[in-house]
Amino acid sequence: MSSSRIPGFYKLSPAARREAALAAVGLPAQRGVAWASDALPLERADAMIENVVGTFALPNGVAVNLLLNGRDRLVPMVVEEPSVVAAVANMARLARESGGFTAACDESVMIGQVQVSDPAPGAAARLREAVPRLEAMCVGVHRELEALGGGLRGMEVREVVYDEPGYPREEMVVLHLFLDCRDAMGANMINTLAERLAPEVVAITGGKQGLRILSNLADRRVARARVRLDPSVFGDEGAAVAQGIAAAYRFAYADPYRAATHNKGIMNGVDAVAIATGNDWRAIEAGAHAYAARNGQYRPLTAWRVDAEGFLVGTLEMPMQVGTVGGAIRVHPTVQANLALAEVAGAADLAMLLAAVGLAQNMGALRALATEGIQEGHMRMHARTVALGAGAVGDEIPRLVNALVACHDYTVPRASALLASLRESGR
Ligand code: NAD
Repeated sequence: MSSSRIPGFYKLSPAARREAALAAVGLPAQRGVAWASDALPLERADAMIENVVGTFALPNGVAVNLLLNGRDRLVPMVVEEPSVVAAVANMARLARESGGFTAACDESVMIGQVQVSDPAPGAAARLREAVPRLEAMCVGVHRELEALGGGLRGMEVREVVYDEPGYPREEMVVLHLFLDCRDAMGANMINTLAERLAPEVVAITGGKQGLRILSNLADRRVARARVRLDPSVFGDEGAAVAQGIAAAYRFAYADPYRAATHNKGIMNGVDAVAIATGNDWRAIEAGAHAYAARNGQYRPLTAWRVDAEGFLVGTLEMPMQVGTVGGAIRVHPTVQANLALAEVAGAADLAMLLAAVGLAQNMGALRALATEGIQEGHMRMHARTVALGAGAVGDEIPRLVNALVACHDYTVPRASALLASLRESGR
């Protein structure tokens, strides 16, 4: 694409934004139909899940300004919450002055679990010995994946104990299988393989067959993002803002109550892009939070520090189980348009984009918290939703928003009263 820096993008109408975004990536204007509210035909929706009665519309925004690994990117985001898209665009604008974001990710290796409960003595050792044979059994199960360079990447045997006070102790043996799923999220492919292996695993271990399914703690498929900023991008008080962001991180590191909210902010961005690109955001969420707690205490998924030269350095690290094929991705027309708009090259590229967006989102939240507080900026954006909720229509909406901002009161009763007086004075 030419440049993701589209000044004044936020001031355009939705139709003009569509046109500008598509033009920036050289896509024809007709692709814009994919963002119409009826873009997903009912019969297609009916084939996607059960008991369909209709489709559910959500706003699809685009965050501009992102520079990732030296490349300009537009970021499609589907979310119901105000300020999320604006925060990414604003932080991306600040970061591009310092070279933008960088990101990297592991291979697309997912983990499958085959559980055996109540195993016979020596089961784990026998299973370890049998790993080469079990690995050979996997060859050819996913031929298309193997042809694409993916496939099995090894196995591991774990001994797990259920030991909850007040209940009988249970021993189990769990076989982990590692599958490089390339551009797929991989849940179905993993599950197929786990089910295929299970009878042999039970025969070797002599126990009772347990579960056969992937683990969403995808810690072999981690994405990392980084940004290093000259604090002057935050204005005259930039050095203090950078210190404030680093201090906010330390609070989250020390306290799970804060870390949960810190990570929720990251997921505001990650989930919005995951939904826009047809990915299973519950899987990403599950992986993120399990990873955050992997060392026994729930911790933040990002870290922020001021380095020796006074620059603010932010890093993010989290599992990113996303795909650009499989699941509903090829089925949903808006997903296809969003992937095209973001010029997503494959699952690894998408994982890096999500990581950068998560980091940008977190930066936006921490900057607001460390300066004016979250409410002022957020509530200004939220005022539009409040105005709509109070019944404002047409040009009443911006007038009511201005009135709410002026009185710093964003409650619906106040908005209703202000709307009534606006209408009264307009008569
Ligand atoms: P899938 O079953 O559609 O498999 C992907 C298919 O794409 C394979 O047939 C593969 O051969 C093919 N393919 C084509 N080009 C490819 C490429 N470049 N790289 C990789 N594969 C390529 O999808 P999946 O990714 O196995 O499963 C994802 C779905 O599973 C999601 O919808 C998810 O919601 C669901 N799911 C999730 C969980 C969980 O997270 N716990 C559990 C069960 C199911």
